[in-house]
Amino acid sequence: MQIKENFNAFEDLVPPITELNKSYRENLAEGRLVLQACMLCNKNQYPFESFCYECGSTDLTEVSSTGEGSVYSFVKVHQPYHPAFKPFIPYFVSTVQLDDGPRMLAAMFESDDVLEIGDRVAARIEKISETEAMLLFEKIR
Ligand SMILES: [Zn+2]
Repeated sequence: MQIKENFNAFEDLVPPITELNKSYRENLAEGRLVLQACMLCNKNQYPFESFCYECGSTDLTEVSSTGEGSVYSFVKVHQPYHPAFKPFIPYFVSTVQLDDGPRMLAAMFESDDVLEIGDRVAARIEKISETEAMLLFEKIR
């Protein structure tokens, strides 16, 4: 199921743009997953912050992520806590350990019934409007 068909339902869930998330969101809307990278210790991080989580440096830049990683943890959602998610029930919400750094939390709408810790996944960026996209993950088959 295409997310865009249901965007009206997702619209009130899109968080406001801030100085910290602006670049991430603009890149995501153009189909790119970017992370923050520390110029001092070379660690990648997400969410974006004004300092490095590892060493505290404020010398940060952005790098493209491969979007690939493995399932670190997950829950299977059977209850539509918001009407926007109702068409996708049941679905998974996974914490994914990216190969290039941080863990990210995202829904997995079009997966098999079975998901296991360690399963390989890839980011899937769904355009939901001209200016917004949504990060999902899907199993690598
Ligand atoms: Zn650092």
